[in-house]
Amino acid sequence: MYFRSAFCLLAIAAFAALTPAVAGERQPNELGKIPILTYHKISDEDSEYTRKRENFAADLLQLKKLGFSPVTLAELRSGKITTPRGKIPVLITFDDSSESQFKYEDNGKLTPGCGVEIMARFQQANPEYPLRGVFFVLPKAQYPNNFFGQTDKIGVKLRYLTENGFEIGSHTLWHANLKKYRNKIEEQLGLATAEIQKYLKGYAVYAFALPYGIFPPKADEPRLRAGKYKGKAYRHDMIFDYSNGLSFSVYDKKFDTYRIRRLHGNEKSMHKLFKQVREKPEIFFVSDGNADTVTVRKAEAGNVRLRAGQKLITY
Ligand SMILES: [Zn+2]
Repeated sequence: MYFRSAFCLLAIAAFAALTPAVAGERQPNELGKIPILTYHKISDEDSEYTRKRENFAADLLQLKKLGFSPVTLAELRSGKITTPRGKIPVLITFDDSSESQFKYEDNGKLTPGCGVEIMARFQQANPEYPLRGVFFVLPKAQYPNNFFGQTDKIGVKLRYLTENGFEIGSHTLWHANLKKYRNKIEEQLGLATAEIQKYLKGYAVYAFALPYGIFPPKADEPRLRAGKYKGKAYRHDMIFDYSNGLSFSVYDKKFDTYRIRRLHGNEKSMHKLFKQVREKPEIFFVSDGNADTVTVRKAEAGNVRLRAGQKLITY
């Protein structure tokens, strides 16, 4: 009797694994768009550059309920996306390293209501959910944006982030508009990477978000990708803008790793994203659950750029 029911369960599980579309599950579409959210300050009220604490917590819950699953920079970079089948990858990013994002109390506890504390609480309540995030930091900006404000806790904070599944990227040394400060590009980028590596030895800083989303003139763009200032070298192979659009799939030939689109993480844009996924789910990237295969609609197969070792599946 017991043996028999266990066998039946196994048989059902095997059948489910072989069935391409379980009822209610989204059909894989790995050429769909990926939302890359950009949060700034986490604080008391909503504004263009601020997300109200309660609403930030509500965003995380809503993302989970609507079938989004956080990915890492590393996955988007390698193209080995491990998002579960039927889920939409989302990259959560934070700009400007303000104290509002990450603060400790004198007793060593996370300050209630700072961004990282809200995420830690969410993670405790939803342990199976892979909560990830990228912090684009400003090592030498003015307080409270100087590496999260508390100068005696920089190392502790950066280690907390990297040990808890978060990633660090560069946002220049002090938020320089690189169109205006074209003569300081190497200085801003070389020193930003060096400052991060001062606390995280050997950490690969390969992602860079442009302050204000402002690019220097076209001829200067290669200087954003690699360079050196007084012996401090940097190399960025993912450059993020602030255009408030959904990103192309990393498998789409139109995906440009030096101009990756990001959405604004404010009330207006988050509301729009949640509405879009309910009303037009077909525009989003939906994972096939296998990092080695890329599953797309047959008619779109010509738009795919595969990574080494990946197999294309069409339907
Ligand atoms: Zn910024």
